[in-house]
Parts: sequence; structure tokens; C-alpha cells
Amino acid sequence: MLDTLDHYGIKATFFCVGENVARYPDLFEQIKTRGHQRGNHSYNHLRAFRTDLAGYLANVEKADKLIGSKLFRPPHGELTYAQYRELRKKYELVQWDVISRDYNAKLSPNEVFDIVRKGVRKGSILVFHDSLKAEKNLRAVLPEFIEFCLAQGYKFDVL
Ligand SMILES: [Zn+2]
Repeated sequence: MLDTLDHYGIKATFFCVGENVARYPDLFEQIKTRGHQRGNHSYNHLRAFRTDLAGYLANVEKADKLIGSKLFRPPHGELTYAQYRELRKKYELVQWDVISRDYNAKLSPNEVFDIVRKGVRKGSILVFHDSLKAEKNLRAVLPEFIEFCLAQGYKFDVL
């Protein structure tokens, strides 16, 4: 993913799970040194509706110690109102408008490409995943989608 983005000179925002940063510090360093933006995606990819307020906030803070970003994207797009109210005091909360569903192994690269091609608009926040589940689709779709967007006149920017 980093090589593909470099190839096109595109910067992205990587919402990192803290435990993955702890496990792969070299990869996290590369995200920074290659000039990408980073954001917090909690320490353990928590489910907000199953986690009490104090536990959720502590988990996000634990991730912040490694990630150091004012951006927070809640896993699964979920937050309780109380979590939202507290987190917004410190973080810029980020959602998306187009989710590629690249992580769904039942979808072919062509189907994933169709989702993002039909969904993208001016100002869109698109979500792709650099996870093992998404790898097959991501590898195939990301370059093709970037080419499509550039041909349409879109520019890419970070949050
Ligand atoms: Zn996630």
C-alpha cells in the first residue's frame, strides 16, 4: 500500500490500531517518514457499544501514547453519545462516506472497485484497509481506483 501510494505521489491518513503499532513499529515509522498522516483507531479495535466509558477512553489514550494524533476514527464507526461527548474534547472525530468493503473476502476485486467508483464524490473520505483480510482486494483495486480518480480529475489529500 505504501509503495502504491508513493508511486502516485499520494498521501493518505492511516488510522492505526495501537496494538498493531506496538507489534510493527518499523511499519508505523515508514508511514510517518513517507509523509502520511496518522490517526488513532483505539488500542484494541474496541466495539464502543460493548465498552464502558472509562474503559473506552483509557484504551484510546493508550493508543494515543504510541500514535500521537488529534484524529480519532472509532472502530466500526460506533460511539455512544457519552464516548462521543468526551472524545470530541480532545480529538477530531472522523467518519467516512465511502467504505470499500475490501475486507469482505466474498467480494471480488471488480465488485470492490464498483463500490468505490460509484461512491466517490468531491470531498469523499474513502476507507481502505491494509489488513490481511483485505489484501487480495486492496492489491488489485487500489492502483486501479487511483488511476480512475486521477482520470476523473480528482486530487487526493489527507485529513
Ligand atoms: Zn477498523
